[in-house]
Amino acid sequence: MLSKDTISRFQQLETPFYYYDLDVLRKTLAACHAASSKYGFHVHYAMKANFNPAVLDVIQSFGFGADCVSGNEVKAAIEHGFGKEKIVFAGVGKSDKEINLALDADIFCFNAESVQELLIINDLAKAKNKTAKIAIRINPNVDAHTHHFITTGLDENKFGINIWQLPEVVDALHSCPNLEFLGIHFHIGSQITDMEVYKNLCTRVNEIQDWFEDRGFEIKVLNTGGGLGVDYQHPDANGIPDFESYFKVFSDFLDVKPGQEVHFELGRALVAQCSALISRVLYVKNGLKKNFLVLDAGMTELIRPMLYQAYHLIENLSQSESQEIRKPGSGKEDPSQIIHYDVVGPICESTDCFQKDVELPQSYRGDLIAIRTAGAYGEVMASGYNLRDRVGSIYSE
Ligand SMILES: *Cc1c(COP(=O)(O)O)cnc(C)c1O
Repeated sequence: MLSKDTISRFQQLETPFYYYDLDVLRKTLAACHAASSKYGFHVHYAMKANFNPAVLDVIQSFGFGADCVSGNEVKAAIEHGFGKEKIVFAGVGKSDKEINLALDADIFCFNAESVQELLIINDLAKAKNKTAKIAIRINPNVDAHTHHFITTGLDENKFGINIWQLPEVVDALHSCPNLEFLGIHFHIGSQITDMEVYKNLCTRVNEIQDWFEDRGFEIKVLNTGGGLGVDYQHPDANGIPDFESYFKVFSDFLDVKPGQEVHFELGRALVAQCSALISRVLYVKNGLKKNFLVLDAGMTELIRPMLYQAYHLIENLSQSESQEIRKPGSGKEDPSQIIHYDVVGPICESTDCFQKDVELPQSYRGDLIAIRTAGAYGEVMASGYNLRDRVGSIYSE
């Protein structure tokens, strides 16, 4: 992904910054679009993964809808040209202000996460003399087999409505004339690469839609959320997620009735691989037991490793010759040139470490370091802690 020309362009620039390869983004979107439209599936981009304006514009141009989790995301989606009829709005804590904003915008659907929220949306819609279209976010109790910090579909999670509360939902729907029930919504977690998990989700969705239909409800929309994972270990060899297998599982196992729409909300899978966080080595500290590379980027620029022990491939772009030398099979492996570094940031927190024991060529002050696969939940989570400058972004063209 990072060509010699690109790296030499970086030499002139102040670090840290997010580098966006819009070509990688377009290829990923094209692959997703081809794989989903084969089955007539609707894909909404989960904006919280990355709302960099240039990224949003490219995604919008492919015709995807938007999945929003705040009023400001709904606003931004509209500003970037996402059609309001393609905007869904989820979130366990939608404020009255946010609900009103979405009602005024006439979005496609609220994904409601509690019975109380249903009643509030109904009241607010009534005050505006409107009908709010809603789907019920149900917690299907499917184990996503992903890191417990990013699993959302188990009974113990705060998201969604649990199965045993569904009779209460039915009562609420009957008593809310300003709600139009569209269907059911699920989102069981993130960074899911095991297709068996999605097969299990399909089984639960089928059972739950039968349950609703037995009670006289017509399900127009099945929304199975997002969560498809990416390969953080091999961003170059495996840069495009396996959209084909992903959508095929739903086509094979979801019981889609005539006229029913199937919706998805993908975030990470669409944007993770198109960006790298580029930083420089500020200091090399050699200890008795450990060597540290102190970067000019830290948890204020990319918090995923510190927040949920996420792995990102770390490369020294300035010593790429050395990386070639130690490539297995090159006949030039020289283990003496591999050093184990703890790669850390400058922030005054002990957890401000990108990764321990990273194997890198001997590194020096000023070397450019790439932290790969940083396009999802990277720039959007940047903070101003320590009164740091806001991280910048640059683009491939
Ligand atoms: C975050 C989120 C998504 C997207 O998750 P990814 O793992 O990035 O695909 C989809 N739907 C909802 C409701 C979300 O909160």
